[in-house]
Amino acid sequence: MELKIYNSLSGEKEIFRPIHENNVGMYVCGPTVYSNVHLGNVRTFMSFDFIYRSLVHLGYKVRYVRNITDAGHLTDDGDVDNDRFVKQSRLEKLEPMEIVQKYTVDFHKVLDTFNLLPPTIEPTATGHILEQIELTQKLIEKGFAYESNGSVYFDVLEYNSRGLNYGELSRRNIEELFANTRDLDGQNEKKNPQDFALWKAASPAHIMRWNSPWGEGFPGWHLECTAMSTKYLGERFDIHGGGMDLKFPHHECEVAQGKACNGTEPVNYWLHANMLTMNGQRMSKSTGNYILPMELVSGNNDFFEKPFHPAIVRFNFLQAHYRSVLDISNEAMVASEKGFQRLMEAMKLLSGFGFLTSDSSTFDISAWKEKCYTALTDDFNSPILISHLFEAVNFIFKLKDGKETVTEAELKELQHIISGLVYEVLGLQNIEENNNEKLDQTLQVLIELRNQARKSKNFDLSDQIRDRLLAEGIELKDGREGTTYSLS
Ligand code: AMP
Ligand code: ZN
Repeated sequence: MELKIYNSLSGEKEIFRPIHENNVGMYVCGPTVYSNVHLGNVRTFMSFDFIYRSLVHLGYKVRYVRNITDAGHLTDDGDVDNDRFVKQSRLEKLEPMEIVQKYTVDFHKVLDTFNLLPPTIEPTATGHILEQIELTQKLIEKGFAYESNGSVYFDVLEYNSRGLNYGELSRRNIEELFANTRDLDGQNEKKNPQDFALWKAASPAHIMRWNSPWGEGFPGWHLECTAMSTKYLGERFDIHGGGMDLKFPHHECEVAQGKACNGTEPVNYWLHANMLTMNGQRMSKSTGNYILPMELVSGNNDFFEKPFHPAIVRFNFLQAHYRSVLDISNEAMVASEKGFQRLMEAMKLLSGFGFLTSDSSTFDISAWKEKCYTALTDDFNSPILISHLFEAVNFIFKLKDGKETVTEAELKELQHIISGLVYEVLGLQNIEENNNEKLDQTLQVLIELRNQARKSKNFDLSDQIRDRLLAEGIELKDGREGTTYSLS
């Protein structure tokens, strides 16, 4: 089955053809780790987690690079004092790298909570300063960039004068861009306002600074993604993703940098994930219209009536296509919870009890499988895929009630396909199973501690562990293979 992907560059759905057969290079812009990620950020990363999982499930070997932006992201390109990390470090009275560490740890924790897989490479901007300096030098040598007061800017007019088109990805017209640009501070050192920083000179108060041929400074935000994607995926690679809001200027600048440096389109397929809204407005830290992921999970917020398990949030997000806007609301979450529970109930029925099989089946499993994979390969259409999953769910409930029949082979096939799609591709987890896993891990820790106590002849403690667990209905049994437990 051919995979079709909507490519923002062409504005069309295209058949996906990777550069190297069966291998995919995918780069996704990561978070700027100067504060906690909000739920909107999580949606974008989850969209690409689903895409990554789908590609792997479809048989591709994926090198998935998602960076950490830990330097250089200014709130606006013209004002050096608006470095997000430096600002936040003053606010929290921490070193900028403590800010980076704190919010990187938070980011990983949040994504783990929502069962996102880690990328295969997670490079940081500060770990690639040399590569960014080299790229800047290359752009100066080729005449696409110029130095001004210790900063280096990309020359957009020069780029366009060579028959290239700044604006090709975001479909913006350069004349309009010029007409609409305000004259911001610091822009007088640029030849024209659309030029963007590759390297910024650091003011004396700027803490995050590195040596360069142009004096002490720090790299521009757009450059880091070109440096890291080129390093790990090559001058031209298959997929580049990010939120819709990054298309301009961030991704437009990446296209320009790549083309100017290497003379080739850097990316074959540009994918843009759409926004999460709340009260119909884009979720964003700056407007205050946001909720933190853990606030939704813990119920500690004023917007939702109750807490929602991360797996239900995940299910809710994937009920929308990644290119559609999704508005989060209490009603939608409650509806998703019901749907999720029904799906999991069906999964349990399917794996646990078994059905009376017959020599005929009333459900055409191969036709159903085809529909599921058609949805998945049609630009990763998760809502349509989920609607097909529910056809199978309805069938499973009817099987249970004896209203449908199935052959043994088809039952096995159904089990195999549905668990692949639900667990591997959608990344959903059975809440109950997940809790059992945690319980198991906890008991293993207690068993180990009890063994240690026995080794050091602290029998008071080892007996206490056994007796107190027994009082909770958990019996430890010592056998030749070690200690096991049973729950009453
Ligand atoms: P940032 O840390 O600001 O660079 O953002 C990280 C990612 O979250 C980017 O890909 C943004 O496009 C994305 N993002 C920001 N706001 C939202 C939102 N409301 N909904 C979905 N994605 C968002
Ligand atoms: Zn980026």
